[in-house]
Amino acid sequence: MEERYEPLKELGSGNFGVARLVRDKKTKELVAVKYIERGEKIDENVQREIINHRSLRHPNIVRFKEVVLTPTHLAIIMEYAAGGELFEKICSAGRFSEDEARFFFQQLISGVSYCHSMEICHRDLKLENTLLDGSPMPRLKICDFGYSKSALLHSQPKSTVGTPAYIAPEVLSRKEYDGKIADVWSCGVTLYVMLVGAYPFEDPEDPRNFRKTIGRIMSVQYSIPDYVRISAECKHLLSRIFVADPSTRITIPEIRNHPWFLKNLPGELIDCEKTNYEDVGSGSLSQSIEEVMRIIQEARTPSEGLKADGQSVAGLVDLDDTDTDIETEEVDEGGDFVARV
Ligand code: ADP
Repeated sequence: MEERYEPLKELGSGNFGVARLVRDKKTKELVAVKYIERGEKIDENVQREIINHRSLRHPNIVRFKEVVLTPTHLAIIMEYAAGGELFEKICSAGRFSEDEARFFFQQLISGVSYCHSMEICHRDLKLENTLLDGSPMPRLKICDFGYSKSALLHSQPKSTVGTPAYIAPEVLSRKEYDGKIADVWSCGVTLYVMLVGAYPFEDPEDPRNFRKTIGRIMSVQYSIPDYVRISAECKHLLSRIFVADPSTRITIPEIRNHPWFLKNLPGELIDCEKTNYEDVGSGSLSQSIEEVMRIIQEARTPSEGLKADGQSVAGLVDLDDTDTDIETEEVDEGGDFVARV
């Protein structure tokens, strides 16, 4: 790992470990690395995340590059999104204008539509999993396929996964659901947050009250504050997304034909499923699925070359050469909500 990649800085920490910015010493390219501790943390979900992510190539999806084994961690190397989370951008802006929100929503739908065309549903779409690249007209990049499911490889989703504020009503009931239609709901929450600067189903007086939020989701109780001016077309789109019955909710193809969505639609977003987004250059050198599976399998065995205190032995310098503590506990900051039902 350290022969090829020079560590630069910490990008953030998630449920699984840390994400770090590194530089490819040979190509000088900046890439992001997500580190997951070897051993029991490398479970079915991690495997699913990697296999699903690997199969996706689209300008609005953070590109998976490869997996590398370190003495202590499994490292997932991917495209670096230099613009940070869309969430941060909204926090500093308060809320977006309708044109700005549409600009990002079109890209979000484009990426989600592509995922669905590959029979993969994301199941945790939210502003925190929506990154931006560093360009002046930022390109949106969907990341974190930790809850994704493939209709081809996996069973129909039944688990209640996601983040409370973004969960569709049918995901909260204990039945099987269509992950693609549930993704539509989460895209609607993302759109609402961009426009309003608040979550649609949270009581602003009592935002941490998940029970109340869930009650409001189930009864589709949301409103747009008077001080936010939103066009009738935009309100119409939101009202077609926030429909409790998944069979009558607007679908992704229908969103892509909605008049609000079609306004100022960049040409490159029109028919992107048909485009072949193979990498130019490094694409041909990418790891085979067998190689990826072999590395994941090997990562399941606890790290070798470790002393009893968990420090790397000399010569096997890994993450321990930096000053950050990556062994953070899985703390629930109230944001992520996972209930297997
Ligand atoms: P989680 O799985 O909990 O969402 P991740 O490990 O995916 O957490 O990411 C942790 C943080 O690191 C994210 O919140 C994000 O801000 C940052 N990050 C993750 N991937 C990238 C990337 N490809 N480019 C830039 N920042 C990233």
